[in-house]
Amino acid sequence: MKKASCPACHGEGQNVLALTVKHLVQENLRDTVHEKTTYYLCLSPHCPVVYFDTSGKTLKTEDLKVPVWYKDGASPKYICYCSQVTEEEILSTIRQGAKTLEDIQRMTGAGSKGFCLTENPSGRCCHREIEKILKSARGASSQSQ
Ligand SMILES: [Zn+2]
Repeated sequence: MKKASCPACHGEGQNVLALTVKHLVQENLRDTVHEKTTYYLCLSPHCPVVYFDTSGKTLKTEDLKVPVWYKDGASPKYICYCSQVTEEEILSTIRQGAKTLEDIQRMTGAGSKGFCLTENPSGRCCHREIEKILKSARGASSQSQ
């Protein structure tokens, strides 16, 4: 697969399906999303660009219906978009004793619906993000002990 870099920050893009982009942009931009275009997700937290294609066209955070969790200023920070579970809710279940991904999924309902392809801006399942939060929360608590 060809690598693509963001026209704004020059960071590397992660491939996303047009289907995902089409579901997440504001209604008035839907028709500008073409099925045959290859879209990329800009992974840089500081960059306002969410999606871009190889022609240099971009879709920014304000062009989307949902906040993109890892971008600066995202509020609320949804981690699981299908069940609308936020980072804060996940951290709170960890404080309540959740120790594994399964605990968190059971307590919050995160990852139970599987609409990731159309609901999550990355088009991917949230379980990796939950694991990251779990890992950093564990790291933080072992440092404070
Ligand atoms: Zn960017």
